Amino acid sequence: MQELKLRPYQTDALHRTREAFRSGYRRPLVVLPCGAGKTVLFAYMASQSQARGKTVWFLVHRRELLDQTIATFKRFGIPLRTIHIGMVATYANHPERYPKPDFIIFDEAHFSMAATWQKLINLYPDVYIVGLTATPCRLDGKPLGTTYDTMVVGISTRELIQQGYLSNYRYFAPSVADLSGLKRKGSDFDPESAAELLMQRAVYGDVIGNYRKYANGLQTICYCSSIKHSMAMAEEFQKAGINAVHFDGNTPKAERTRIVQDFRDKKIQILCNVDLISVGFDVPDCWCCILLRPTMSTALAIQQAGRALRPQPGKTAIILDHVGNYTRHGLPDDSREWSLDSKLPQHKEYKADGTLAVTQCPECFFTFPSGSDHCPNCGAEIKKTRQEIRNIKKIHMEEIKRQYRQKTAAAVHEKSDISECRNMSEVMAWCKQNGKKPGYGYYYARSKGMIRA
Ligand SMILES: [Zn+2]
Repeated sequence: MQELKLRPYQTDALHRTREAFRSGYRRPLVVLPCGAGKTVLFAYMASQSQARGKTVWFLVHRRELLDQTIATFKRFGIPLRTIHIGMVATYANHPERYPKPDFIIFDEAHFSMAATWQKLINLYPDVYIVGLTATPCRLDGKPLGTTYDTMVVGISTRELIQQGYLSNYRYFAPSVADLSGLKRKGSDFDPESAAELLMQRAVYGDVIGNYRKYANGLQTICYCSSIKHSMAMAEEFQKAGINAVHFDGNTPKAERTRIVQDFRDKKIQILCNVDLISVGFDVPDCWCCILLRPTMSTALAIQQAGRALRPQPGKTAIILDHVGNYTRHGLPDDSREWSLDSKLPQHKEYKADGTLAVTQCPECFFTFPSGSDHCPNCGAEIKKTRQEIRNIKKIHMEEIKRQYRQKTAAAVHEKSDISECRNMSEVMAWCKQNGKKPGYGYYYARSKGMIRA
């Protein structure tokens, strides 16, 4: 048994969650990055509620997460007297089988808007709820604010890296196929059409070549676009003499366990999959991620790349993004502003000053937050792109226009009568300031010959 000792940032998140309840909120959504130890933290919170005689439901949405959560409670010797750990679907279908909760903890709370979750939430409108998530956004961008009433945002990924709780990483983004014409399906890219583009001989060659160049021999998780694509990718790695294995949700459990063990023992270098890992499947540590699944989902992008960041002595993770996910979602430790109320703001490819938020070195594909004239990896010179130059010019023009508008407004401010206005823009500004409709201004301007009739 392990002693449950919270890290300082976990204690902080716990205090702030309690503070939220004390301030009258009933359903805080707690945001902590992947690898911050959310389960441990809320196992602790559940055990404290249990000690006060409260009934707690700790609900997850996948079998693998259920096993992991139970294992966490066991590891810290937390007895399950009035704590019930289960699957959301099971509890939603048969709530009568369990004692009524005082308090529900939802893991992976970004799924909260799904019908089964809503059924459960509506069944107990008075029960206190805590939602846990690393990515408080839904793929379709609809807000979570109808379920949760406040948000507790804990430590950031960057701080976790700085404090050594996550490993540092290097991000390379060599593109291997032209994905510009990718079809959409619902709110994300069509995975089949992506797989089609990525299942070409030359692409396989480039993926393998880049693995050799940047991550040769490292334990790697490779995210593919479809099962067929994942199987084919594993086969191509094998042909190249690299031991890779495909697995998916249909792989029998015993075989999955064996594959994971072989990966731990380094008999297998590369695990190819579609989405098994990103939803919380407890795969052991990896040092490299290969991204071959373009996505519009920030949650998915963060979870996939985040897999490589579990700390190990001496580790600097390698992320090979072959599908440009960084252009849509930024780097794994970019700071993000989450909101319960609105659609998640799309990652801005360009900063407010018109330059790219993330720069990619044209020589070595190293990808890093903009601001440097030279690549931090190879020293190559970084020039501004044509689009950046255009953006900067446009921003400059808009500043001039704004200054002009402000000057006009200031000048008009002193005019007490419309007859003092000398041109159309002054007339319109005067109308605005004096509560006159634009039509009045047009009529006046026309009568004075400032505009043609
Ligand atoms: Zn470089």
